[in-house]
Amino acid sequence: MTAPAPPIGILVELTHRCPLGCPHCSNPVTLERPGVELDTGTWKRVFAEAAALGALHVHLSGGEPTARRDIAELTRHAASSGLYTNLITSGVGVSRKVWNEIVEAGLDHAQLSFQGADEATNDRLGHYDGAWEKKRAFAAMVTSAGLPLTINAVVSRPNLHQVGAFIELALELGARRLEIAHAQYYGWALMNRAALMPPRDETEAAIRLVEEARKSLAGRLVIDMVVPDYYARYPKPCAGGWGRLAINVSPSGKALPCHAAETIKGLEFWNVRDHSLAEIWRDSPAFNAFRGTDWMREPCRSCERKEIDWGGCRCQALALAGDAAATDPACSKSPLHARIEAMASAEAEAGSDAIRWRSYREATVEA
Ligand code: SF4
Ligand code: SF4
Repeated sequence: MTAPAPPIGILVELTHRCPLGCPHCSNPVTLERPGVELDTGTWKRVFAEAAALGALHVHLSGGEPTARRDIAELTRHAASSGLYTNLITSGVGVSRKVWNEIVEAGLDHAQLSFQGADEATNDRLGHYDGAWEKKRAFAAMVTSAGLPLTINAVVSRPNLHQVGAFIELALELGARRLEIAHAQYYGWALMNRAALMPPRDETEAAIRLVEEARKSLAGRLVIDMVVPDYYARYPKPCAGGWGRLAINVSPSGKALPCHAAETIKGLEFWNVRDHSLAEIWRDSPAFNAFRGTDWMREPCRSCERKEIDWGGCRCQALALAGDAAATDPACSKSPLHARIEAMASAEAEAGSDAIRWRSYREATVEA
């Protein structure tokens, strides 16, 4: 096999600790506990290895990455390794002192999540009273430091009607970019799918609204959108293609082709404690399992889109088709697609509001 081109970036889940409890959280349902987290020295080595491998940027993520006491030290090391540094944060619990240290360490960009576009929705979906004010204060710290700010809003049935308000919020806070991402149904979001799945007509209305805003706000605000693929014609190229663009590293050091890859049982994930990032990228069984197109079956194998969407998402194929090597059932060419669409519509119509908030000890709460 020829050596793969280098990854563009690396996403490091520095910790799974987080003060919030979002029901759509992309962390695995079985969260890694603080005792297993990599130490400062190992993360520094990982950053240096990522830069040497050719990666351009590092996303400092979690959980809540500022829950790490060494966040400024890690940011400094990543920046001095030559990586563009992006902090992905809830903005809750970041003191001015810590923020100043992170900025001084060389942070390039901050990405701040909002769970709702008003106080009640935000604090309810984040499962944290007072988050709204803390997030707004954090946004002000970012812009007053002169750093570019991206607002990230995960939308689903409880807040999809707020897409317009999210755009207003991003403008008010001085963000340069807004990412409106429909919940992706793996992990926590899969568990909460019945409470999160939006109806098709509301989804299409939200997509139209974003398309219009993109035109009217061109030059003022960049708006990215991830559409809910249960209603799409073709799936998204998950993680830009398995083992193609990025490496995720879990708090304990497991190197993953995407954040949900551990749901695929039987894959062998190498750990950065035992292998260099270059070895993992080139040789690890998990990264090679679905790299390229050789693993594909029909209808993907002979499809003209196979190097556009790379067959969609392996984790979603497993979750919905029971087979990680199947065509993603979000694709209209999948034999399962009609059933998946019908299930999504039925869930949206049933309108359950029973949410399991993300936590180390998951609890079932009637919202
Ligand atoms: S999605 Fe919510 S709960 Fe999950 S890490 Fe982000 S802020 Fe925390
Ligand atoms: S058949 Fe496979 S490659 Fe073709 S569009 Fe669907 S998921 Fe993509």
